[in-house]
Amino acid sequence: MSKTVMLDWSSRRFEVTEEGYNLIREVISRHQICPTCHSLIDQEEHLLVAKKCLACVLREHPSITFAGLQRVDSDGDKIYAFVNQEGIVLTSEENSSEKPEEDVAFSIEQAGFTIPTTYKPFKSTENLRLGRASWKVYGKLSASVVVLHYYDYYSKGRIEIDYLAYKDGQTIEVKKRTTEHKNMLEKARNLAERTKKGSYYHLNGQQLTQIEDADLFQIIAMLESAVYNEQLAFLALQEPEQPQPDLFTLQEDSAPSEQDQSQQEEATEVEEANQQIESEVVATQPEQEQQEETQGKSSKRKLRVVQPSEEDPTNETLS
Ligand SMILES: [Zn+2]
Repeated sequence: MSKTVMLDWSSRRFEVTEEGYNLIREVISRHQICPTCHSLIDQEEHLLVAKKCLACVLREHPSITFAGLQRVDSDGDKIYAFVNQEGIVLTSEENSSEKPEEDVAFSIEQAGFTIPTTYKPFKSTENLRLGRASWKVYGKLSASVVVLHYYDYYSKGRIEIDYLAYKDGQTIEVKKRTTEHKNMLEKARNLAERTKKGSYYHLNGQQLTQIEDADLFQIIAMLESAVYNEQLAFLALQEPEQPQPDLFTLQEDSAPSEQDQSQQEEATEVEEANQQIESEVVATQPEQEQQEETQGKSSKRKLRVVQPSEEDPTNETLS
Protein backbone atom coordinates (compact mmCIF):
# COMPACT_ATOMS: atom_id res chain seq x y z
CA MET A 1 0.00 0.00 0.00
CA SER A 2 1.30 3.42 -0.86
CA LYS A 3 0.78 6.76 0.79
CA THR A 4 0.68 10.24 -0.72
CA VAL A 5 2.86 13.05 0.59
CA MET A 6 2.47 16.63 -0.63
CA LEU A 7 5.27 19.14 -0.23
CA ASP A 8 4.98 22.94 -0.52
CA TRP A 9 1.79 22.79 -2.53
CA SER A 10 -0.93 20.24 -3.07
CA SER A 11 -0.09 19.39 -6.68
CA ARG A 12 3.48 18.46 -5.79
CA ARG A 13 2.73 14.90 -4.83
CA PHE A 14 4.95 11.98 -3.93
CA GLU A 15 3.88 8.37 -3.64
CA VAL A 16 5.83 6.63 -0.87
CA THR A 17 5.71 3.32 0.97
CA GLU A 18 3.88 3.02 4.26
CA GLU A 19 7.24 2.67 6.00
CA GLY A 20 8.53 5.83 4.35
CA TYR A 21 5.37 7.68 5.29
CA ASN A 22 5.81 6.77 8.96
CA LEU A 23 9.44 7.93 8.84
CA ILE A 24 8.40 11.25 7.29
CA ARG A 25 5.82 11.76 10.05
CA GLU A 26 8.49 11.05 12.62
CA VAL A 27 10.84 13.59 11.04
CA ILE A 28 8.04 16.16 10.92
CA SER A 29 7.17 15.63 14.58
CA ARG A 30 10.84 16.20 15.49
CA HIS A 31 11.20 19.37 13.45
CA GLN A 32 7.73 20.93 13.36
CA ILE A 33 7.50 24.53 14.53
CA CYS A 34 4.57 26.73 15.47
CA PRO A 35 3.69 28.95 12.46
CA THR A 36 2.86 31.83 14.80
CA CYS A 37 5.75 31.96 17.29
CA HIS A 38 8.20 29.74 15.35
CA SER A 39 9.06 27.74 18.49
CA LEU A 40 9.79 24.05 18.14
CA ILE A 41 6.69 21.98 18.91
CA ASP A 42 7.06 20.10 22.19
CA GLN A 43 4.82 18.29 24.67
CA GLU A 44 4.50 21.18 27.09
CA GLU A 45 4.22 24.90 26.49
CA HIS A 46 4.45 24.51 22.73
CA LEU A 47 2.24 21.46 22.42
CA LEU A 48 0.51 21.50 19.02
CA VAL A 49 -3.13 21.87 20.07
CA ALA A 50 -4.46 23.47 16.86
CA LYS A 51 -2.73 24.97 13.83
CA LYS A 52 -0.57 26.67 16.41
CA CYS A 53 0.99 25.86 19.77
CA LEU A 54 -0.67 25.94 23.18
CA ALA A 55 1.18 29.09 24.26
CA CYS A 56 -0.08 30.97 21.19
CA VAL A 57 -3.66 29.72 21.61
CA LEU A 58 -3.73 30.80 25.27
CA ARG A 59 -2.20 34.18 24.43
CA GLU A 60 -4.95 34.80 21.85
CA HIS A 61 -7.72 33.48 24.15
CA PRO A 62 -6.67 34.53 27.65
CA SER A 63 -10.03 33.70 29.26
CA ILE A 64 -9.93 29.97 28.50
CA THR A 65 -8.10 27.29 30.47
CA PHE A 66 -6.34 24.28 28.97
CA ALA A 67 -7.91 21.00 30.15
CA GLY A 68 -5.69 18.46 28.40
CA LEU A 69 -6.20 15.76 25.80
CA GLN A 70 -9.88 14.99 25.27
CA ARG A 71 -9.62 12.06 22.85
CA VAL A 72 -7.80 10.63 19.86
CA ASP A 73 -9.97 10.34 16.75
CA SER A 74 -10.07 7.40 14.34
CA ASP A 75 -7.24 8.91 12.22
CA GLY A 76 -4.99 9.08 15.25
CA ASP A 77 -5.30 12.88 15.53
CA LYS A 78 -5.50 14.37 18.98
CA ILE A 79 -8.40 16.54 20.13
CA TYR A 80 -7.63 18.90 23.01
CA ALA A 81 -10.09 20.43 25.47
CA PHE A 82 -10.32 23.88 27.02
CA VAL A 83 -12.86 25.35 29.44
CA ASN A 84 -14.17 28.90 29.45
CA GLN A 85 -15.34 30.92 32.44
CA GLU A 86 -18.92 29.72 32.01
CA GLY A 87 -17.81 26.09 32.26
CA ILE A 88 -18.36 25.45 28.54
CA VAL A 89 -15.86 23.03 27.02
CA LEU A 90 -14.04 24.08 23.84
CA THR A 91 -12.18 21.63 21.66
CA SER A 92 -9.53 21.91 18.97
CA GLU A 93 -7.72 19.37 16.80
CA GLU A 94 -3.95 19.26 16.49
CA ASN A 95 -2.60 20.64 13.23
CA SER A 96 -6.15 21.26 11.95
CA SER A 97 -8.30 23.72 13.96
CA GLU A 98 -7.83 27.47 13.57
CA LYS A 99 -8.90 27.93 17.20
CA PRO A 100 -10.79 26.10 19.96
CA GLU A 101 -14.52 26.03 19.29
CA GLU A 102 -17.29 25.68 21.86
CA ASP A 103 -18.67 22.18 22.26
CA VAL A 104 -21.87 23.11 24.06
CA ALA A 105 -23.65 19.75 23.74
CA PHE A 106 -20.64 17.93 25.16
CA SER A 107 -20.40 20.42 28.03
CA ILE A 108 -24.07 19.98 28.89
CA GLU A 109 -23.70 16.20 29.03
CA GLN A 110 -20.42 16.37 30.96
CA ALA A 111 -22.24 18.38 33.61
CA GLY A 112 -24.80 15.60 34.05
CA PHE A 113 -27.72 16.90 31.99
CA THR A 114 -29.52 15.08 29.18
CA ILE A 115 -29.94 16.61 25.73
CA PRO A 116 -33.15 15.70 23.86
CA THR A 117 -32.52 14.15 20.46
CA THR A 118 -36.01 14.47 19.01
CA TYR A 119 -38.91 16.90 19.27
CA LYS A 120 -42.57 16.56 18.40
CA PRO A 121 -43.96 19.96 17.35
CA PHE A 122 -47.39 20.95 18.68
CA LYS A 123 -50.16 19.28 16.64
CA SER A 124 -47.58 17.50 14.49
CA THR A 125 -47.46 13.76 14.02
CA GLU A 126 -43.82 13.57 13.06
CA ASN A 127 -40.76 13.75 15.26
CA LEU A 128 -38.08 16.28 14.44
CA ARG A 129 -34.43 15.36 14.89
CA LEU A 130 -32.48 17.83 17.01
CA GLY A 131 -28.86 18.36 15.98
CA ARG A 132 -26.01 18.66 18.45
CA ALA A 133 -24.55 21.90 17.14
CA SER A 134 -27.35 24.31 18.05
CA TRP A 135 -27.62 24.46 21.82
CA LYS A 136 -27.33 27.31 24.26
CA VAL A 137 -27.32 27.18 28.07
CA TYR A 138 -29.10 29.63 30.36
CA GLY A 139 -27.86 29.38 33.93
CA LYS A 140 -24.67 27.78 35.21
CA LEU A 141 -23.74 24.22 34.29
CA SER A 142 -22.43 23.79 37.84
CA ALA A 143 -25.97 24.36 39.19
CA SER A 144 -28.51 21.55 39.42
CA VAL A 145 -31.02 23.07 36.97
CA VAL A 146 -30.39 24.93 33.70
CA VAL A 147 -32.54 25.99 30.77
CA LEU A 148 -31.40 24.50 27.45
CA HIS A 149 -32.22 26.44 24.31
CA TYR A 150 -32.34 24.73 20.91
CA TYR A 151 -32.37 26.83 17.75
CA ASP A 152 -32.53 26.04 14.07
CA TYR A 153 -32.92 29.19 12.00
CA TYR A 154 -32.49 27.44 8.68
CA SER A 155 -35.22 24.86 8.71
CA LYS A 156 -38.77 25.71 7.66
CA GLY A 157 -40.51 27.89 10.22
CA ARG A 158 -37.40 28.68 12.30
CA ILE A 159 -37.40 26.35 15.29
CA GLU A 160 -36.66 27.47 18.84
CA ILE A 161 -37.34 25.22 21.80
CA ASP A 162 -36.54 25.64 25.49
CA TYR A 163 -36.09 22.89 28.03
CA LEU A 164 -35.76 22.77 31.79
CA ALA A 165 -32.96 20.29 32.48
CA TYR A 166 -32.43 18.71 35.89
CA LYS A 167 -28.96 17.36 36.73
CA ASP A 168 -29.00 13.55 36.68
CA GLY A 169 -32.72 13.83 36.06
CA GLN A 170 -35.31 14.77 33.47
CA THR A 171 -35.25 17.32 30.66
CA ILE A 172 -38.68 18.88 30.17
CA GLU A 173 -39.87 21.21 27.44
CA VAL A 174 -40.85 24.70 28.61
CA LYS A 175 -44.42 25.15 27.39
CA LYS A 176 -45.52 28.72 27.84
CA ARG A 177 -49.17 27.76 27.42
CA THR A 178 -49.17 25.56 30.54
CA THR A 179 -50.11 27.23 33.81
CA GLU A 180 -47.03 25.90 35.57
CA HIS A 181 -44.54 27.34 33.14
CA LYS A 182 -46.54 30.54 32.64
CA ASN A 183 -46.33 31.07 36.41
CA MET A 184 -42.63 30.31 36.37
CA LEU A 185 -41.99 32.99 33.76
CA GLU A 186 -44.28 35.42 35.57
CA LYS A 187 -42.38 34.92 38.84
CA ALA A 188 -39.05 35.48 37.09
CA ARG A 189 -40.40 38.61 35.38
CA ASN A 190 -41.63 40.02 38.70
CA LEU A 191 -38.20 39.42 40.20
CA ALA A 192 -36.52 41.09 37.23
CA GLU A 193 -38.85 44.10 37.61
CA ARG A 194 -37.62 44.56 41.16
CA THR A 195 -34.06 45.11 39.88
CA LYS A 196 -35.16 48.14 37.87
CA LYS A 197 -33.54 51.40 38.92
CA GLY A 198 -34.41 54.36 36.73
CA SER A 199 -34.74 53.01 33.24
CA TYR A 200 -32.33 50.08 33.68
CA TYR A 201 -32.70 46.55 34.90
CA HIS A 202 -29.65 45.27 36.83
CA LEU A 203 -29.22 41.57 36.15
CA ASN A 204 -26.10 39.42 36.64
CA GLY A 205 -23.81 42.43 36.59
CA GLN A 206 -25.41 43.85 33.45
CA GLN A 207 -27.48 46.96 32.82
CA LEU A 208 -30.40 46.18 30.52
CA THR A 209 -33.03 48.42 29.01
CA GLN A 210 -35.40 45.54 28.43
CA ILE A 211 -35.89 41.98 29.62
CA GLU A 212 -35.80 39.14 27.12
CA ASP A 213 -36.81 35.51 27.55
CA ALA A 214 -33.11 34.61 27.83
CA ASP A 215 -32.83 36.82 30.93
CA LEU A 216 -35.93 35.25 32.44
CA PHE A 217 -34.53 31.77 31.79
CA GLN A 218 -31.36 32.69 33.71
CA ILE A 219 -33.54 33.59 36.69
CA ILE A 220 -35.71 30.49 36.30
CA ALA A 221 -32.61 28.24 36.25
CA MET A 222 -31.42 29.85 39.47
CA LEU A 223 -34.79 29.57 41.26
CA GLU A 224 -35.44 26.02 40.08
CA SER A 225 -31.94 24.95 41.19
CA ALA A 226 -32.68 26.16 44.71
CA VAL A 227 -36.02 24.31 44.81
CA TYR A 228 -34.52 21.14 43.30
CA ASN A 229 -31.66 21.11 45.83
CA GLU A 230 -34.13 21.50 48.69
CA GLN A 231 -36.31 18.70 47.32
CA LEU A 232 -33.35 16.31 47.10
CA ALA A 233 -32.17 17.24 50.58
CA PHE A 234 -35.70 16.74 51.92
CA LEU A 235 -36.01 13.32 50.29
CA ALA A 236 -32.62 12.30 51.64
CA LEU A 237 -33.79 13.10 55.17
CA GLN A 238 -36.98 11.07 54.87
CA GLU A 239 -35.21 7.83 54.12
CA PRO A 240 -32.86 6.96 56.99
CA GLU A 241 -32.34 3.39 55.74
CA GLN A 242 -31.32 4.54 52.27
CA PRO A 243 -30.37 8.15 52.82
CA GLN A 244 -28.87 8.82 49.42
CA PRO A 245 -31.35 8.77 46.53
CA ASP A 246 -30.22 9.84 43.07
CA LEU A 247 -27.78 12.69 43.38
CA PHE A 248 -26.46 11.57 46.77
CA THR A 249 -25.74 7.95 45.92
CA LEU A 250 -22.86 6.56 47.97
CA GLN A 251 -20.76 3.70 46.78
CA GLU A 252 -21.24 0.59 48.88
CA ASP A 253 -17.69 0.36 50.11
CA SER A 254 -17.72 3.95 51.27
CA ALA A 255 -21.00 3.85 53.21
CA PRO A 256 -20.40 4.55 56.89
CA SER A 257 -21.27 1.36 58.79
CA GLU A 258 -23.20 2.61 61.81
CA GLN A 259 -24.57 6.05 61.34
CA ASP A 260 -27.42 7.25 63.52
CA GLN A 261 -30.10 9.68 62.48
CA SER A 262 -28.34 12.81 63.70
CA GLN A 263 -25.13 11.92 61.94
CA GLN A 264 -27.09 11.43 58.78
CA GLU A 265 -28.64 14.83 59.11
CA GLU A 266 -25.19 16.25 59.50
CA ALA A 267 -24.05 14.30 56.49
CA THR A 268 -26.80 15.93 54.47
CA GLU A 269 -25.76 19.35 55.70
CA VAL A 270 -22.18 18.52 54.80
CA GLU A 271 -23.39 17.48 51.36
CA GLU A 272 -25.23 20.75 50.88
CA ALA A 273 -22.26 22.76 52.07
CA ASN A 274 -20.00 20.78 49.79
CA GLN A 275 -22.32 21.38 46.88
CA GLN A 276 -22.08 25.10 47.45
CA ILE A 277 -18.34 24.93 47.80
CA GLU A 278 -18.16 22.79 44.71
CA SER A 279 -20.10 25.23 42.61
CA GLU A 280 -17.79 28.01 43.73
CA VAL A 281 -14.76 25.89 42.94
CA VAL A 282 -16.22 25.05 39.56
CA ALA A 283 -16.72 28.72 38.86
CA THR A 284 -13.14 29.62 39.64
CA GLN A 285 -11.19 26.48 38.68
CA PRO A 286 -12.68 24.93 35.59
CA GLU A 287 -9.61 22.88 34.77
CA GLN A 288 -9.75 21.09 38.09
CA GLU A 289 -13.39 20.22 37.52
CA GLN A 290 -12.39 18.81 34.18
CA GLN A 291 -9.85 16.52 35.76
CA GLU A 292 -12.34 15.33 38.33
CA GLU A 293 -14.84 14.55 35.63
CA THR A 294 -12.49 12.05 34.09
CA GLN A 295 -12.33 10.18 37.37
CA GLY A 296 -16.04 9.55 37.23
CA LYS A 297 -18.90 11.15 39.06
CA SER A 298 -19.42 8.50 41.72
CA SER A 299 -15.89 8.67 43.05
CA LYS A 300 -16.18 12.43 43.23
CA ARG A 301 -19.37 12.17 45.25
CA LYS A 302 -17.86 9.56 47.48
CA LEU A 303 -15.02 11.92 48.29
CA ARG A 304 -17.29 14.82 48.98
CA VAL A 305 -19.54 13.01 51.40
CA VAL A 306 -17.05 10.90 53.27
CA GLN A 307 -14.12 13.22 53.61
CA PRO A 308 -15.40 15.60 56.29
CA SER A 309 -16.38 12.87 58.77
CA GLU A 310 -13.10 11.02 58.23
CA GLU A 311 -10.91 14.03 58.66
CA ASP A 312 -12.99 15.46 61.44
CA PRO A 313 -14.83 12.68 63.24
CA THR A 314 -16.37 15.03 65.80
CA ASN A 315 -17.90 17.22 63.10
CA GLU A 316 -17.36 20.15 65.46
CA THR A 317 -16.69 22.59 62.71
CA LEU A 318 -19.95 21.71 61.05
CA SER A 319 -22.36 22.01 63.99
ZN1 LIG B 1 3.26 29.27 19.03
